[in-house]
Amino acid sequence: MAGQPIGEMDVEYATTIADRAIRLMSQQSVPATPSNFAVWFEYSLGSSLALRKTIDILIAGKRKFDAATNHELYITYVAPQSAADPLGDLPEQLSGLIATAQQFLNTAVSDNQTHIKALGEVSSEAATSDPRTIISKLVDELSKATARAATLEANFAATSEELDSIRDSLKAAEQRSNTDALTGLANRHSMDEFLRLAQIAAMEKDEALSVFLIDIDHFKKFNDDYGHQVGDQVLRLVAKVLQEGVREVDLAARYGGEELIAVLPGADLEACTSVAERIRRRIAEAKLTRRATGKEIGSITVSIGVSQFRLAESAEAMIERCDRGLYQAKRLGRNRTVTETELEPEAGAA
Ligand code: GH3
Ligand code: MG
Ligand code: MG
Repeated sequence: MAGQPIGEMDVEYATTIADRAIRLMSQQSVPATPSNFAVWFEYSLGSSLALRKTIDILIAGKRKFDAATNHELYITYVAPQSAADPLGDLPEQLSGLIATAQQFLNTAVSDNQTHIKALGEVSSEAATSDPRTIISKLVDELSKATARAATLEANFAATSEELDSIRDSLKAAEQRSNTDALTGLANRHSMDEFLRLAQIAAMEKDEALSVFLIDIDHFKKFNDDYGHQVGDQVLRLVAKVLQEGVREVDLAARYGGEELIAVLPGADLEACTSVAERIRRRIAEAKLTRRATGKEIGSITVSIGVSQFRLAESAEAMIERCDRGLYQAKRLGRNRTVTETELEPEAGAA
C-alpha cells in the first residue's frame, strides 16, 4: 500500500488506517485538527519511513506532542513540498557501459538462437543424411559456438575491468564530493547528511543540538580592495579558525560562497553561542598580512546567527532561524553574534 495515493485507496482499508490514526492521537493526546490527522494518518499508513522513525522516537522517549512539535511534524513530513529528483543523472560513462552490456547480451542471445537453430537443422537431417556430413556440420557449429563464447568472455572481462575502474573513480569522486576544495571543510552536501543524522540522534538521546552560521562582513569590498585571491586566503583563514574552534564531534562546513556553518551535537543555545563568540573574536583579532609583500592589511570581521534544534523540525527551519539571526547581526552593525532568542519579530508578522 505504501506510496499509493489516498484517493485511490480502498475505502475499507482507509477507514482502518483512519481508525488507527485517531486511536493513536487520542493515546498521545494530540488534538484532532486536520493537519494533525494528516500526520497521524500518514504515520499509520507507514508510507514515510522518516516520519515513522521520528514519531516512534518521540513516543519511546515519552515526549509531549505539543503544538510546536505537531506543527513541525506537519511542515516537515506532510505539507506539500517541491519535488526533487532523488537520483539525478547517471554518469555518462555508466550509461554508456550499460548500453554496451545490453548489446553484448542481445548479440549473445541472437547468436545462441542461430546456434540452436543450426543444431536443430543438423538433427532433423540426421535421419536422412550421410553421417560424415552431419559430423562435419556439427564440428563446424561447435567451433563457431566456441569462438562466440571466447569473444563474449573477452568482452565481459573488458566490461568488468571497466566496472572496476568506474567503481574506483566513483569512490574518489565521493571523497571529493564530501569536501570543499577551497577551504578543506566539509561541503554543503555532507553537512546536510551530518545534520540529518544529528537531528535523529538528538531526538533519540533527548539531547540538545545547535548550529551557527558565519558570514564574512563586507567581503565584497575586501575582494574589491585586495583582489579575489587575497579574499580566498581570508576565507581559508576563517575556515581554519572555525575548524580549530570546534570539537571533534562537531562538523564545520562551507555552507555557500563566504558563509560557513558549524553543527554542534549536544550543545544548547548558550554553549553554542559561547563557541561562536570565541571564534568571532579570534577572527577579528587575527593579523592579516599580504603573502606577496608581507605588509599588514586591514582586519576582517564576521557576523554570526545561532539556533537550537526544536523537536521534529526540519533542518531548513533550524537554519532559517540562524539566517535571520545573521541578518539581524548585520543590521545591528556586524561583528556580532545574534541568537534565535534575540530575534526581533519579522517585518509584516503579527
Ligand atoms: P555583508 O557584510 O552584508 O555580508 O557584505 P558582503 O559584501 O560580504 O555581502 P554579500 O553577500 O553582498 O557579498 C558576498 C561576497 O563574497 C560576494 C563575493 O565577492 C564574495 N565571495 C563569495 N564567495 C567567495 C569566494 O569563494 N572567494 C572570494 N574571494 N570571495 C567570495
Ligand atoms: Mg553572504
Ligand atoms: Mg558577507
